[in-house]
Amino acid sequence: MADEPNGSVRARVVELRRAIHRRPELGFEEEATAKIVEGELERLDIPHRRVARTGVVGLLRGGKAGRVAALRADMDALPLQERTGLPFASEVSGVMHACGHDAHTAMLLGAAHVLAAERATLPGSVVFLFQPAEEGPGGAQPMLEEGVLDDPAVDAIAMLHVDVRFDAGAVSITPGPVNASADELYVTVRGKGGHGASPHTALDAIPAASAIVLALQNIASRETDPLASVVVTIGTINGGYRMNVIADEVRMTGTLRAHDPNVRAQLEARVRRIVGGVAAAYGAQADVEIVYGYPPVVNDAELATAFARIVAGQGIRVESLPPTMGAEDFAYFAQRVPGVLVRLGVRNERQGAVHPGHSADFRLDEAALPIGVRTLVAFARAVCDGRLARRAARSEHP
Ligand SMILES: [Zn+2]
Ligand SMILES: [Zn+2]
Repeated sequence: MADEPNGSVRARVVELRRAIHRRPELGFEEEATAKIVEGELERLDIPHRRVARTGVVGLLRGGKAGRVAALRADMDALPLQERTGLPFASEVSGVMHACGHDAHTAMLLGAAHVLAAERATLPGSVVFLFQPAEEGPGGAQPMLEEGVLDDPAVDAIAMLHVDVRFDAGAVSITPGPVNASADELYVTVRGKGGHGASPHTALDAIPAASAIVLALQNIASRETDPLASVVVTIGTINGGYRMNVIADEVRMTGTLRAHDPNVRAQLEARVRRIVGGVAAAYGAQADVEIVYGYPPVVNDAELATAFARIVAGQGIRVESLPPTMGAEDFAYFAQRVPGVLVRLGVRNERQGAVHPGHSADFRLDEAALPIGVRTLVAFARAVCDGRLARRAARSEHP
């Protein structure tokens, strides 16, 4: 196939992926990974700079006038002890690339190889964004604050995320929401302590907290359009001292998620009304704190639809997987310019590549890597020569 990355690029991507996999680094500690990225960009004669502490931005200027495409990969690992037993397994105790960001970084470098080789005839420019700390606290926002989409002004952006829900050999590109917002919920319920034998002399925070947990289920089951997606999860509940003491305080934490920004915007008021109202019904008091996290990732509808057609035209199988309620800080980039998050199938039953991301057994089928490279390259070319960017520009200036 004409657009297949050549053998040396394929081999280099696998080599880079394994090197990064061996030396996983947590968010904002990606020093060694950033050095690998910088070394590779250096070799390709792509000018680059550091941003957001351990992030790297490369800029490839084509030989002809055109549009500006951005491609983004995340570089950070997770605090997990790897259990795969692979020959290139993590050599860092308690840290593992269990979300595939090693593959994302390697594939973006592979795309840089292919695009650098055709720079003389490339119209426009390609911005390569190597982002730290996707798993938290988030590297996308600090990169945006340092102007990574501004000079040159990016017309459209894409990213890949590996996905074990479907076999290596295909990608999934869908318009609209693909990931959810993720906001943190903190609830403290206060009553009055006392002897477990005399509940009438105290104010038990535990029944009040229990009723709050149950009442919060109403948001998803009764208050939200059944065709919309929302999650209200209480993940921890802590309170009390011993079996015969009435608890004066219960603390709970949880996560609030939605695809639709309007559904998300209503969650805080709903949570506050239910928590406050139920606590009052029990004579207790309650505090609610919501810490806003990543917004939902919403793929630009026109861009995603047009790009899916282009990728299919290259002979790559394009599926359309349902969205997930996971979160991704690519959302911030996609809020600024038309963006598309592409899922890359990496499942392979025979290789045991079946465990979900964030599992200590997570592994991926490396046969997917050249398909990822081709997808990134196809996006950059189509934005640069105006096949995709024109659509974006038209929607901005109707
Ligand atoms: Zn992850
Ligand atoms: Zn991830």
